[in-house]
Amino acid sequence: MDPSDFRRDGYALVDWIAEYLEHSDRFPVLARVVPGEIVAALPEDAPEDPESFGAIMADFERVLVPGLTHWNHPSFFAYFAITGSAPGALADFLSAALNQQAMLWATSPAATELEAVTLGWLRRLIGLPDAFEGVIYDTASISTLHALGAAREAAVPDVRTRGLARSDIPPLRVYCSQEAHSSVDKAVIALGLGHHALSRVAVDDQFRMRPDALADAVRSDRLRGCLPLAVVASVGTTSTTSIDPLPAIADVCGDERLWLHVDAAYGGAAAILPSHAHILDGAARADSLVVNPHKWLFTPFDLSAFYCRRMDVLRAAFAFVPDYLRQSAAASSASQGPSGALHGTGNLMDTGVQLGRRFRALKLWFVLRSFGVRAMRAHLARHLDLAQQFASWVDAHPDFERLAPIPLSVVCFRWKPATDTLTPVQIDQANEQLLAAVNQTGQAYLSHTRIRGRFAIRMAIGHLRTEERHVRQAWDLLCHLSRQLTNK
Ligand code: PLP
Repeated sequence: MDPSDFRRDGYALVDWIAEYLEHSDRFPVLARVVPGEIVAALPEDAPEDPESFGAIMADFERVLVPGLTHWNHPSFFAYFAITGSAPGALADFLSAALNQQAMLWATSPAATELEAVTLGWLRRLIGLPDAFEGVIYDTASISTLHALGAAREAAVPDVRTRGLARSDIPPLRVYCSQEAHSSVDKAVIALGLGHHALSRVAVDDQFRMRPDALADAVRSDRLRGCLPLAVVASVGTTSTTSIDPLPAIADVCGDERLWLHVDAAYGGAAAILPSHAHILDGAARADSLVVNPHKWLFTPFDLSAFYCRRMDVLRAAFAFVPDYLRQSAAASSASQGPSGALHGTGNLMDTGVQLGRRFRALKLWFVLRSFGVRAMRAHLARHLDLAQQFASWVDAHPDFERLAPIPLSVVCFRWKPATDTLTPVQIDQANEQLLAAVNQTGQAYLSHTRIRGRFAIRMAIGHLRTEERHVRQAWDLLCHLSRQLTNK
């Protein structure tokens, strides 16, 4: 691609993206393809000869666009609604062109130091003290894996050299609530602790971890000869967005000398609002915390911000420097050294499994500057209000019921057909049918969870362009289709 072709095709692509970002609601939210359809529509082998940008774009539109589920659609209400905003998309474009690889400070001083700067901005916005150093990973799952890797390093002598397959280590234990995300399960599995090492602690009637149950579990595990390592508390659980009581959990961790990791992957964003700053009360006493700007801070997927008060432990767990990456004394004087390093001048490769890293901080920088904090707060406040509004419609409707409180911007509810002849299993099935019917329209996309064993529909509000009319449309669909299903 020569420079003039790049300009022509690049401008055309920007036009395509601009149109898409403005009118993504012209597409059905949920992809309308069957499994295998895309594979079948594309050649088995890569082309021998170059193909034009126009031909590639034509196939993109013809084959791939129908296979897109539109996360950037204002009526996307499934899982957690997220936004790949325009400034973030432009920054990713730029980042791809720059192709920075920030393994060492010297291989990209700008990417390394901008990561420290942007994470410093975000840290202050969510009210974490300066003692927390930040690093960007791709996802919260990887952030949590690294947190628990550091906890393992802190608690198990010599684990780095001798591993876990030895007789002098008691069974290890990690604690999270019954509502915590499956990334905690995956982390204990990947770290070789074994899935049985994970203890799921009971929750209260608002789906929050019970600190008394946590303390009991830790005590009884110690009596059984286990070695408790860490607690993962959630600020914004995946099903209901419940918020664990961090201060009381931090007390238990303090008493028991356990690593406290806070999974604020989704909910942490709300702490930028003065009205919601309290959701991170107690987080200052944690050892680590994750918040995902790619969830509710308008940053294109993927970007997970990991904060750690004991970065020396994380580095001790993960740093490994082969000869070919060793820096000369001059280059390393600023960037090496456990504590003497100037903030933001360390080598990012020392903070995790991954060696190379792309320039993710660029998109966070573009997004934070381009929106400005005031506008970000206003968007989050609007999402919170829309969730309350949706909940008020559910609460007022005789055939629907809400299944959980709404601490943030997700509403869990279900249809309760006005007949007393249905069994609980039939009510679940009716809700599954209703959800499928709504999603098939292409006009909205919602997902589900289970709450106390019952099928629940989740309405997650968080896209930049979601307005009341989109939420209203989804509600009207639910009401209309539930009536249709009743009359069948
Ligand atoms: N933690 C919570 C509370 C989540 O809801 C999720 C995903 O939705 C994750 C962690 C994992 O996020 P990621 O996809 O960034 O790994």
